[in-house]
Amino acid sequence: MINIALFGAPGAGKGTQSKMLVEKYDLTYVSTGDALRKEIADKTPLGLRIKDIMDAGQLVSDEIVVEMIEKIIAGNTRKGVLFDGFPRNVAQAETLDKLLAKYNTSLLCMISLDVPREELVRRMLERAKISGRSDDNEETIKNRLREYENKTLPVADYYKGKGLYIPVIGFGNIDDISRNIMKEIDAKIINN
Ligand code: AMP
Repeated sequence: MINIALFGAPGAGKGTQSKMLVEKYDLTYVSTGDALRKEIADKTPLGLRIKDIMDAGQLVSDEIVVEMIEKIIAGNTRKGVLFDGFPRNVAQAETLDKLLAKYNTSLLCMISLDVPREELVRRMLERAKISGRSDDNEETIKNRLREYENKTLPVADYYKGKGLYIPVIGFGNIDDISRNIMKEIDAKIINN
């Protein structure tokens, strides 16, 4: 199975690159951010509970996202799963390992899209003009980057320790970035 976690700060381009990877490797795509935004848009009980947390740029509780992820892994009928925006902290990373093992599979690698901070802020403010996302404003962007630096960056060390961490430069030409990511994934598949 080709299970891949796409890692990177908010604004790193995970959504854009995901689309190409899902197609190329025939993967089930899950973005926890998209799934949570849908709950809010549909005004479900869960959506009402998490709206303020997301608007503040904080992470929602692990139980909520883990439940979503297990459903995706259990229902996957493609060659693997591409995780976008998950795991966001070390506890989620440990849970992902256990979940994948429960379904007799494992993570192939974690691709980290590396983009300088100023570029991230610039992209998110640019996206704010068209996304309509209530968390794409300057104050919340700062909080999201802080959450990322405090809670999500340690996930990179977690995967480095397991030999699964692959950094890729995430700025420049979008197709070049995709090609670099695919080269790394292909090498992992061959060596697996
Ligand atoms: P994203 O679209 O990935 O930037 O996520 C937007 C927001 O959704 C984040 O700021 C968090 O509030 C929430 N979120 C997304 N994924 C997770 C996750 N794995 N764990 C906790 N909160 C998440």
